[in-house]
Amino acid sequence: MPGDGDQADSGARAELVVIGGGPGGYPAAFDAADRGMDVTLVNDEAIPGGVCLHRGCIPSKALLHVAALLGEAHEATQWGITFAQPKVELDKLRSFKESVVKKLTGGVGELCKARGVKLVQARARFLDSTTLELKKPARRKSWPSAKPSSPRVLRRSFRRSSPSKTRG
Ligand SMILES: Cc1cc2nc3c(=O)[nH]c(=O)nc-3n(C[C@H](O)[C@H](O)[C@H](O)COP(=O)(O)OP(=O)(O)OC[C@H]3O[C@@H](n4cnc5c(N)ncnc54)[C@H](O)[C@@H]3O)c2cc1C
Repeated sequence: MPGDGDQADSGARAELVVIGGGPGGYPAAFDAADRGMDVTLVNDEAIPGGVCLHRGCIPSKALLHVAALLGEAHEATQWGITFAQPKVELDKLRSFKESVVKKLTGGVGELCKARGVKLVQARARFLDSTTLELKKPARRKSWPSAKPSSPRVLRRSFRRSSPSKTRG
């Protein structure tokens, strides 16, 4: 259930907690789940994907693709093909970029569900080596419903997964 943060009840236990839902965190969570572990993925943003999917690699590549296309069209003049001056519709371009991001970030959420990885939206902080405090990230000031929430505590147990639990 991305975004609601309700899966980490106070005192909840998890066999393995992965902090951070970026390209470092989610493959680790998936791998552990594939090996039969009970995995909780804690991410402070509502939708996992990290910098790469939300703001870095993916959106930049979507825009670079468009830039490359414009560059090639411009260069083509020297090969005897001249295109009309392009009209850039920024809102449409942004929508295209957002659609690419949404498709991929949505895919990460689906993969979490398919593997039974519990997704919790919270900021994690270690209280000790086996205890995490999970705080709902502060909302933007402009959101009228902003209201502080109490920290939740998630304890990690050291139960080892037996090979028989391993999923295909
Ligand atoms: C413009 C740009 C273009 C890029 N292009 C490429 C590229 O083409 N190829 C490439 O390989 N790399 C690229 N990168 C780099 C790539 O984005 C990063 O290497 C990658 O995102 C790192 O992944 P990560 O999982 O380590 O961290 P992040 O992507 O930063 O993900 C970490 C996630 O964990 C969350 N988090 C952090 N601390 C906590 C906490 N205590 N509790 C809960 N959640 C937490 C963060 O909010 C974030 O969502 C690019 C970066 C930028 C900015």
